[in-house]
Amino acid sequence: MADSIFTMIINGDIPAEKIYEDDHCIAINDINPQAPVHVLVIPKRVIEKLSDAQGDDQSLLGHLMLAAGNVARQLGVAEAFRLIINNGEGAGMTVHHLHLHIIAGGTLSEGKMVG
Ligand code: 5GP
Repeated sequence: MADSIFTMIINGDIPAEKIYEDDHCIAINDINPQAPVHVLVIPKRVIEKLSDAQGDDQSLLGHLMLAAGNVARQLGVAEAFRLIINNGEGAGMTVHHLHLHIIAGGTLSEGKMVG
């Protein structure tokens, strides 16, 4: 399977505004932000979508949640943010490489979503 755009970003083949990185994931600003803060947390190991995850992905999935909290703190939005995972094209997924959207600021109280 061809590399996803996120794998190309992780490998440094195409640029992105990287705001966090550790051994297992990166966080980048979304290229088309839907809110004042719109960050993507992306595992370096590819899982196509959440519903493909298996038991041995458990620690990675937990790691992504902790990373999302750390990034939210880093950005000063830890008290009010939304975490979104689009699973499958029918749910608005366009990049087939699991990622968490951190959304904050703007219209959160109106319940708006991404995608
Ligand atoms: P999805 O709809 O798959 O849940 O979200 C994919 C997200 O990736 C979209 O919000 C889209 O704007 C973002 N995106 C797509 N291509 C790029 C890119 O090349 N760079 C960055 N930073 N974000 C991207």
